Amino acid sequence: MTENSVFESPIVGRQLFGPGPCNPYPEAHLALSLPLLGHLDPAFIDAMDATSEMLRQVWGTRNQRTLPLSATGSAGMEAAFVNTVHAGDVVVVAVNGLFGERMVDVAARHGAEVIAVEHEYGTPVDVERVITAHPNPKIIAAVHAETSTGVVSDIQALGENKGDALLLADCVTSIGGMEMQLDDWGVDLAYAGSQKCLGVAPGLAPFTISDQAFERRVEKPSNWYLDLNLLGGYATGTTGGRRTYHHTAPTGMVVSLKAALERIFAEGLQNVYARHAAAGQALQDGLEAMGLTLFAEEGSRLAQLTTVNVPEGVDSAAVRHYLMSKYNLEIGAGTGAYAAKIWRIGMMGHNATDANANLLLAALKDALN
Ligand code: PLP
Repeated sequence: MTENSVFESPIVGRQLFGPGPCNPYPEAHLALSLPLLGHLDPAFIDAMDATSEMLRQVWGTRNQRTLPLSATGSAGMEAAFVNTVHAGDVVVVAVNGLFGERMVDVAARHGAEVIAVEHEYGTPVDVERVITAHPNPKIIAAVHAETSTGVVSDIQALGENKGDALLLADCVTSIGGMEMQLDDWGVDLAYAGSQKCLGVAPGLAPFTISDQAFERRVEKPSNWYLDLNLLGGYATGTTGGRRTYHHTAPTGMVVSLKAALERIFAEGLQNVYARHAAAGQALQDGLEAMGLTLFAEEGSRLAQLTTVNVPEGVDSAAVRHYLMSKYNLEIGAGTGAYAAKIWRIGMMGHNATDANANLLLAALKDALN
């Protein structure tokens, strides 16, 4: 027995301004308390179809194989590589943060000959270096929005220069927070997560793959659960409308994602992106006005995830603990070598408002005084 019930503080009222999860949209939250649907209930199947269609619209793709995988964002990464990498295939990975490093590891585990194009943390992907790293790779992979550094990279430019390679984009922190046009950009495979700018709890990994990439897939991947061929009838209707059982869909989570997407479309995609941009800008302007400096290179800063340099002599963890104990408010530490050197502040989904930026600035000012 723990001391507190889940309905009591400290759980109630936490403000999640870290790198994700954020506080879900109220609609996503409410949907979790609805009566549960069975995973083969026609009402659930309709919800799955509608969710997949809204994901296509957010992503700017007509890929038939677009679905929320029943797992977190990392499973999306795993699915991308296990379904496309044959032993010895050359995979060029642009590494400008932790999640690019993870891609290198995952691709190598599936037998790829990986060429990692390393970048300084805090800088965007250098398209020229990535494109010229190998004359004929099977896959070029990059992270659109690097959550470990707060940097956005130009996926469209990679797509324009990818040649015969398949382009794989990690969209975990970009989806729902900024414009994406995967088909126009030439992206063949992408994965995301539910817990960031889509404003849902962690647990789903939106995933999409083009017909061209599907044709070049591994016939029988070493992972059963993430085999896209087997998943075909689960969500995408590629079996001519007939549904096949693959695994028990997390129905409550899919309905919650549907509710969040409906909310996003009701607000208007462009309005949602503008709200993220404005909140991020207000936060970054306010931090600089306080005399703090930002970590990510100017011109490549994400609005939804701001990285701040911890000032000399300040105990980074002590500030985070102060914010949590006094304000019930979470911000993130850095990762790896930057763990104590930067803070990561999210303005994601429902949390992306000017009011929240001001709240954070006031709390941080108090913590630093
Ligand atoms: N890629 C990026 C850019 C991320 O930010 C994250 C999580 O923060 C992941 C991948 C992994 O997602 P998850 O933690 O949901 O497995």
